[in-house]
Amino acid sequence: MRATVMYAAGDVRVETVPDATIEDPTDAVVRVTRASICGSDLWPYATMEPSETGQSMGHEAIGVVEEIGAEVGQVRRGDLVVMPFAFSDGTCEFCRHGLHTACVHVGFFGNNGENGAQAEALRVPYADGTLYKLPVSADDALLPSLLTLSDVMGTGHHAAMCAGVGPGKIAAVVGDGAVGLCGVIAAKRLGAEQIIILGRHEDRTTLARELGATEVVAERGEQAVSRVKELTGGHGAHSVLECVGLDQSEATAIQITRPGGKVGRVGVPQSASMPNSQTAFYANVTISGGPAPVRAYIDELLPDVLEGRIEPGRVLDRTVGLDDVPDGYQAMADRNALKVMVTP
Ligand SMILES: [Zn+2]
Repeated sequence: MRATVMYAAGDVRVETVPDATIEDPTDAVVRVTRASICGSDLWPYATMEPSETGQSMGHEAIGVVEEIGAEVGQVRRGDLVVMPFAFSDGTCEFCRHGLHTACVHVGFFGNNGENGAQAEALRVPYADGTLYKLPVSADDALLPSLLTLSDVMGTGHHAAMCAGVGPGKIAAVVGDGAVGLCGVIAAKRLGAEQIIILGRHEDRTTLARELGATEVVAERGEQAVSRVKELTGGHGAHSVLECVGLDQSEATAIQITRPGGKVGRVGVPQSASMPNSQTAFYANVTISGGPAPVRAYIDELLPDVLEGRIEPGRVLDRTVGLDDVPDGYQAMADRNALKVMVTP
């Protein structure tokens, strides 16, 4: 079968690899019908040390279950499923409490040697706990939006939940990538009265306005902080969604949060320490977040996608075939594409 393998920064190849097969009785093999390239795939694309074996890439997918192991009972051959970016058993105490990304058996597709979804097919461990059966046909026009339930929409929603977005609240979203834009959708969906997006790619902030942002702040650093304060009666936002993970964006997120407010972090931190820790302390700012338990959020988000109340698939602005995945990486790295969908 064909699959995407990254060998070093800037070196992504689509190659013939051994077919995905059942290895454990809890596995399923999923034939991928839609996958996508994630902003987080761009970190190794920029920084990966050369590797002889390479890393199988991709953690966002919709597909059809092709084979199941002997102990798989919830999903069946032929089911159309969405695959969250992490696999989880669905039964441990963390899964039962909705924190599937802390599952005692967790693993992250397309990372640390796990196989990836930018491929014709892949093996899915703990298929019963991981895969979510979709009630639509494989060629449904909703597939792009449904695909975002595997990561970016669930991740934007997690940022909003961690940031305590609710009716009447002022939300600010740091970052205008796909997750930030989904954060805008989530903040609107949860009833925020004012939604400020911080970003400076005009095509993206224009889309953010269409998705529910009420103001755009294109400034950075101290100027961005001043601008947000101006827009919020001098105090800052109640709920800040940090969707980037760089020191500057984290520092800004804390500075634009009003005393007693909350920051929901979903940008993977690129530094071990958090900037502005003292600022957060003296303002009693709550900081939470982490890898989103997107598996837990599908129940809540799916009806809104199916009934057209939210359209997170709008963040997918380019589609490539599997052989053109390397071009998709480059287009996203060059900021010529916001987010690329793959049709194997
Ligand atoms: Zn678990």
